[in-house]
Order: sequence, then C-alpha cells, then structure tokens
Amino acid sequence: MTTEATTKDTGHARYTFRVRLSNTARRRLEAEWDRCRWIWNECVAKSQQVHVQGKAGGEKLTCGPAQLDKTLTEARGMAPWLAEGASVPQQQVIRDFARSRAKALKDIKDRLPQQRRAGMPRFKKKREARPSLNYTKRGFRLRDGRLHLAGQIVVTVVWSRPLPADPSSVRVYQDTLGQWYVSFVVAAQSEPLAPTGRVLGVDWGVKETATTMARKAADAAIATTKRALVETGRKHARDVRLVHPAHTTMDCAKCGARTKHALPLSMRTYTCTACGAVSPRDKNSARVMLVRAGWNPDGAEGVRPLEPPAPVAA
Ligand SMILES: [Zn+2]
Repeated sequence: MTTEATTKDTGHARYTFRVRLSNTARRRLEAEWDRCRWIWNECVAKSQQVHVQGKAGGEKLTCGPAQLDKTLTEARGMAPWLAEGASVPQQQVIRDFARSRAKALKDIKDRLPQQRRAGMPRFKKKREARPSLNYTKRGFRLRDGRLHLAGQIVVTVVWSRPLPADPSSVRVYQDTLGQWYVSFVVAAQSEPLAPTGRVLGVDWGVKETATTMARKAADAAIATTKRALVETGRKHARDVRLVHPAHTTMDCAKCGARTKHALPLSMRTYTCTACGAVSPRDKNSARVMLVRAGWNPDGAEGVRPLEPPAPVAA
C-alpha cells in the first residue's frame, strides 16, 4: 500500500533556476545539443548492431561504456564538427546512454513484466527531443554569479535562492515551452533530528471544490506542499510514506470494516457498525493512513489486509 519510501536518499539535492541567454549562448547551446543528440543516436545504432550480430551468432561484440568512449574518441578524431563541441557533455551522453541501456538489460534479465520495463534507449528525433546537456565539475565554473560552460558558453542564472554549497554537476535544459533552465546537483545537507517514536497521518484530500480551476490550483498547492514535506523529511532523516488515498474516511481504523456510504462532511464522528468503535472522524482517517503506511498506531490492531497496491499514490 505504501509507495517506496522517498526519504531514503540523503545523498544529493537539485537546485533549479531559470536562465537568461544571449543569442550567442543560445546558438552555442543548440549546436552542443545537436552534436550530443547525434552521439546518442550513434550509440543507439551501435547497440542495435551489436544486438543483431549477437543474434546471428557471429563475432561477440560489446557495447559497454568503455567501447562507446573509444568510438567517441575516434569519431571526434575524424569529424571536425564533432570535435568543435566540448567533450564533457558528449562524454556524459555516453554515460547516460550506458546507464539507460544497462537498466533495460537488467529489466529483461529480471523478467520484469513488459509494461514495467524501461525499454532499450531509442533514437532522439530532432523535433521531439528537448535539449539537455550535462556537465561534470571540469566542464563548468561559477564566476561573478554567472555560469561558464565548456566551449565558451556564458549563462546568466536568475538566482531565486542561494546555492547551499558548491555544485558537483549541472544540467542545462530547455522545457517544452522553450524556456531554458539550469539544475545544479549539490551534496545534500542532512540534519537528522532525534527520533520521537511518534507518527502522524495527513489527509491531502480535496473533495469539495466547486470548479475545475479551483481543483487544479488546490492540486498544485498540495503537490508543492508534498514536495516540501518529502524534502524536509529527507533533510531531517524522517520516514515519509505516501499511501493510497481511497476510502480513508470510510474505513474503520480499529477493525478495518468499510462503511457502505461515504460520510457526509457534516458528520464529524465515525461510528463503526461492525465493531462499534466511535472516534472523531479525522482521527479515524489519520489512523487508517498510519496502518496503510505500515505503522500500527495504538488501538489499530486487527485491521484486515489491505487492497492490492495502488497504481497512483496519494
Ligand atoms: Zn470497526
């Protein structure tokens, strides 16, 4: 019933900012992207070729990162237009490709059901693929508040908040609306708080909203709050679990029975017809959520097994 804990990774945090680009910077980023996209597609072609030859039982070819790195070096040696581009983002393309290919192969080996497999990396078409360039430490520098990328690309960052530490890498990308962003990876600051041994259930439910617009605004606000909660949980080493939202107001936290009809909002007390438990409505649903999250609050023993795993988390 719980989705996998989202607060386990205490390693890194991303800080994303909008940027302002001069025409020159924009043109150079687009050119870098064209070269990176070409390399990605070469990797896809190479991997397909290896697959076909492997099937034919011919010479055993490999397509690992080392092999692809070698191919890149050779390609840069032969194609001046490729060598004009910075090598850091091009090498990162190979890392990304190798990761995504390894993931696809692992899914196949693990016999994951088809719909849950990542799938082999595919060709990136010019019209469909949005620019995304990755730079490791040796490919960028921050100076006087501006981001300097390999290949003499200078980007003006709109610093909406300060970076808490030196970034270890940066991604420069364009969204579907054409806006450019930079996203820095910074080692996460972890400030674990002392364990309290206490748990808390929160219901995000928005059931009584008049219009679609109001609903959308509420959903966005909930998403923002949820992200902040998960991030704060990570920072302070708190366990945050998201549970399936259905029927939290209809189930009995004590015995697990479900009422036939949803309680109207005006009914503030939950009375279970199966076991006779009486408790404030919100307290009951908070307990139902704790049980679903795998915690067993006082008085919630004996709850029946829950429904199959949720396709969508709360
Ligand atoms: Zn009950």
